[in-house]
Order: sequence, then structure tokens, then C-alpha cells
Amino acid sequence: MYRVKMFLPRFCRVWPPTRLWSAFLMIAMSTFCLSAQNEPLHVIAFGAHPDDCDIGAGGLAAKYAALGHKVKFVSLTNGDAGHQSMGGGQLAMRRRAEAQEAGRRIGIEYEVLDNHDGQLLPTLGVREQVIREIRAWKADIVIAPRPNDYHPDHRYTGVLVQDAAYMVIVPNLVTDTPPLHKNPVFLTYHDRFTLPQPFRPDIVVSTDDVYEKKINMLDAHVSQMYEWLPWTEGKLEQVPKDVDARKKWLPTQYPDAVPPEWRASLQKRYGDQARSTQHAEAFEITEYGRQLSEQEIRRLFPFFPK
Ligand SMILES: [Zn+2]
Repeated sequence: MYRVKMFLPRFCRVWPPTRLWSAFLMIAMSTFCLSAQNEPLHVIAFGAHPDDCDIGAGGLAAKYAALGHKVKFVSLTNGDAGHQSMGGGQLAMRRRAEAQEAGRRIGIEYEVLDNHDGQLLPTLGVREQVIREIRAWKADIVIAPRPNDYHPDHRYTGVLVQDAAYMVIVPNLVTDTPPLHKNPVFLTYHDRFTLPQPFRPDIVVSTDDVYEKKINMLDAHVSQMYEWLPWTEGKLEQVPKDVDARKKWLPTQYPDAVPPEWRASLQKRYGDQARSTQHAEAFEITEYGRQLSEQEIRRLFPFFPK
């Protein structure tokens, strides 16, 4: 009681705020805000195959990495079916090495899980792998394909990540990995499918400044960019044999141009700069994760001009 009496008069001498006290409060608050802003964001992207994340979000990942944020790509399968003349363990090893080189080139982590390519199913076991990955990365943002796609592995990757949303905060599930305290933001990559509904470009990020880095990342997936994918599209003979020439050819396959339906979203965040943007990546915010105010969007995507 005595101590309280002694404390109160002293406290009241500086309250209501004096000029000195206000200055102290302002410095403390700005230091707090600055450290909150400087806290690195944790972004995790899932793909069915080693190269899927790169195609959908390689530019975004390079932008985060350049600012010191933490990015991880996870392939849910080992890619052991994705080639016309090799397969099995030999191909899986080759693709894991390509993925790790791709991650190294832009400064992110890349993990390839050992599930078979072309056989992915939305089982409880794989869902638990996804929950572990998201929790262990302490993800603020999770990116995955939409659950409608031509390839069943892509489709089920979308389902698996969608099914992990919310479950990542439930402590009684996957008890070997501590739960997150809040549901992350769940985004999907852009795709061209229109049923049951077309992709909605909620977040469009200019990748002009990192486009070369993205091409350099894709170039690491030699078995895919220069062998398997051209073979599936009947244009293997178009691929230049020379290492430098084929890297110059790659942008013709992945121009990341800005379609007209992305322009409004780009304009909303970039203003006049949007007119000169040549390359971009777009993402939809799903309804299953944390929903964002415009202020939070600008904090989580620290690329837009103020
Ligand atoms: Zn794929």
C-alpha cells in the first residue's frame, strides 16, 4: 500500500504526457513498429512436381528472398514419372538435384518429398506431411494450385493444401509438430481453367525486376524445361542444343506477360507504374485461410509502391 502511494504521485508527475514523455512514447512505438516490419515473413509454396512452384511463384519467391524473407518450395512428389526416356529412382535423384540447384539460384530452400509422381492421392498421410511442413516453416503465407487442373497430381496438391488450412492450428492433430497460433493466408497460383470458376487475380505482383532470376531458376530444371515438357508438346526439335542458346529460348516459353484481366489489380497497387509492367505473377486469396485488409496486404506483400 505504501509503495503504491509512493509510486502514484511520481507517475502522475509525468501524466498527462509532458513533451519529454510524448517523445519517449513516439520513439518506443516507432521502434516497435519497425521491428514488427523487419521481422522476416515466412512463405511456403507447394507444387506436385519439382518445377511447379518455380513456374507459378519463382518471381515472387525471388522478390521475398531479395528482401531477406524466408521462402521454401515443397514438391509433394519426387517427379519420378516426368520423362520420356528415364524414370524411377534415377529420375527422382536427378530432379531433386535440379530442384535444389533452382532454390540455390534465388536463395530459397527447396524440399522434394518422396511420394511417387503420377500417383498422388489426397490421403490423410500426405495431408499430415503438408500440415507438418506448414507448421515447421511457421508460415505466414501458403501457396498451392487450385483444386481444378488437367493433372491429377496438381489437383490433389490443391486439395491437400486446402485440407491442411485451419488444421494447422488444431493442437490435437499431428502432435509431433507444434501447431501455429493463427491460420496463415492461403493463396493459389494462376491457372487457365475456367470451371467451376475462373482464376481471380487478387494479388498481382510485377516481376520485371526478377524476371531474369526466374528464368535462371527454371533453367536449372534441365530434365523438364529442355527435355520432358517440350517432348510432351511435340516441340523437342525446337530446343536449341547449345547451353546459352537454350537459356535465351526459355523466356519464349515462359514470358509471364500481363493479360488484360490482371491490369485492374496491377493498377490498384502500382498506380501509373502498372502501365509499363511487362512481367507479373498473380495469386488468388482463398477463403479458407486468414482474410486480409488492404493494410495487411501491403505488409505481407512489401513490393507495392507507398
Ligand atoms: Zn506439375
